[in-house]
Amino acid sequence: LESELAGEVAIVTGASSGIGEATAESLAARGASVVLAARRADELEAVAERITSEGGDALVTPTDVTEDDDIDALVAETVDEFGAIDILVNNAGVMLLERLDEAAREHLRQMIEVNLLGLMNLTHAALPIMQEQDTAHIVNVSSTAGRQAGAKSSGYNATKFGVNAFTEAVRQEVTTEGIRTTIIEPGAVDTELQEHIPDEEIKQQIEEGMLESMTPLESEDIARAIAYAVTQPQHVNVNEMLIRPTDQQ
Ligand code: NDP
Repeated sequence: LESELAGEVAIVTGASSGIGEATAESLAARGASVVLAARRADELEAVAERITSEGGDALVTPTDVTEDDDIDALVAETVDEFGAIDILVNNAGVMLLERLDEAAREHLRQMIEVNLLGLMNLTHAALPIMQEQDTAHIVNVSSTAGRQAGAKSSGYNATKFGVNAFTEAVRQEVTTEGIRTTIIEPGAVDTELQEHIPDEEIKQQIEEGMLESMTPLESEDIARAIAYAVTQPQHVNVNEMLIRPTDQQ
């Protein structure tokens, strides 16, 4: 176990799979106590067991980030158990790609509620705790889709552009209080994200494209970027990281 983050407390949303799971493991391996938040409790328990078997410290807090009560409970349980929120990784997300003229409104709503409003509300709930501390760090997982819009991705693009704008605005409000903000913008990462795409044709295109035309990133590649940002000295604020597979155009 390394100790760069010893004594720090990190909440990771979407910790039940993919980037969130890898990030929770990587922060725990650096000594942070991690709070695992997502809907699937069984998956969170499995992640927590792995972390504790490696000598780390993990708390499972089943959370739906679209529910205000869950968000408040997540913050309250973290503070009860560990007394602080040093790192908040807002990573939970869904990517329901469709052309707008074929999109279900429910999918648009879900993307906004999980990727954007959930992230905003959890940041809002955690901020008063962070402001009582000397330092804290908010890491928001955006995407290349937060910088470049494209067909079949209007709803998803809207959420990730929103994440970038929200994060920069909050940065300006709290950076002089010792609260750092980092936007993480991954290109293609091999996770479960693509499996939930409702349009079968788009899903197949994305899955084939990822396997045939490039070596996609692994969740651990993004976890390493997050670890880099949160282990910098306090006077260094890594505001934004764009990370693509080398062979992704
Ligand atoms: P996964 O599908 O593996 O992970 C998504 C996570 O979000 C899961 O842990 C899921 O947990 C959680 N989640 C979904 N809905 C909710 C909800 N309502 N409340 C709480 N948690 C929720 O995909 P990734 O790891 O790839 O995705 C993580 C982030 O990375 C997302 O924000 C995504 O947009 C972003 N990203 C991914 C890229 C990629 O190519 N994979 C590229 C760029 C960005 P559960 O179902 O248990 O609730």
